[in-house]
Amino acid sequence: MSPSPNTPARDRLRIAIQKSGRLAEPARALLASCGLSWRESRDRLFCYGESLPIDLLLVRDDDIPGLIDQGVCDLGVVGRNVLLEQDRGRGGNGAAPTFREWRALGFGGCRLSIAVPDSWEWQGAQQLAGRRIATSYPALLGQWLQEQGIAADIVMLSGSVEIAPRLGQADAICDLVSSGATLAANQLKPVQTILESEAVLAGPAHELDSVRGELAELLLRRLDGALRIRHSKLLLFQAPRRVLPDLLPLLPDAEAPTVMRLDDNDDLALQALCHGAVTWQRLEELKRAGARGLMVLPVEGMLA
Ligand code: ATP
Ligand code: ZN
Repeated sequence: MSPSPNTPARDRLRIAIQKSGRLAEPARALLASCGLSWRESRDRLFCYGESLPIDLLLVRDDDIPGLIDQGVCDLGVVGRNVLLEQDRGRGGNGAAPTFREWRALGFGGCRLSIAVPDSWEWQGAQQLAGRRIATSYPALLGQWLQEQGIAADIVMLSGSVEIAPRLGQADAICDLVSSGATLAANQLKPVQTILESEAVLAGPAHELDSVRGELAELLLRRLDGALRIRHSKLLLFQAPRRVLPDLLPLLPDAEAPTVMRLDDNDDLALQALCHGAVTWQRLEELKRAGARGLMVLPVEGMLA
């Protein structure tokens, strides 16, 4: 296949992110935490990578899988819900996927759920048989219904799905839910999750070649470090050696703590990288168990 005029230069990596919306800022912040910086163009659709040859394209989230498919972008940050919907929608089962999830990114969490009117007494998925279900995710819903062996009518709507039952367009809906407040405001209740979603780094099904492959590998290494330390803190403290068996159970999320002996007495200095929340309560418990001089430090970078 000859490269299309849109094929990006072979020596720069191009990442598509949402221009505005829920994923826009967190996506940019995560990439910036990997050491990327950009010069914004006047039309604000393209950001030229300055610190590394990694450029951003600012687009609607729904366009991202297609842009990867066409080779216009190498990678993209998009909800798993959008990625899978477009994958299944392309004919799913038969056709080989051209894009796939490279990494889960830990933000933009939500569920694709079936919701029914508050007045329904939910007894299980079979209750949907013969009903009309409104959704913007016909491929994912269709696949789920098929797996459950349920025949129902899918009513495709591109927005305002939650109002469909009140308008008489559908009996139930299948839509994204995070807090459930929008559903509740429309007298609906979520009864069945069909997909757990979050923002993901999407890329082609195949590996990238040469320079772009190397750039993608570098980005993934930094991304893995950034994701790992996102909630991590470095905990420093001192304690007598004899209380160590009491302290270690309070640090289940810590990587093997580094233990140093102070002078020639029984005192130890410890440092532990904790991946869970280091709360005041936890510090107080450690102190009660015999730790002293507790100090919590932020972790800004990590390369395994
Ligand atoms: P665009 O203009 O780019 O098409 P959009 O309106 O489709 O934007 P947003 O509402 O910004 O998109 O949602 C983007 C993604 O955020 C969703 O696809 C989903 O992965 C995630 N998300 C997280 N929580 C929610 C939620 N409560 N409702 C909708 N999407 C959510
Ligand atoms: Zn969208």
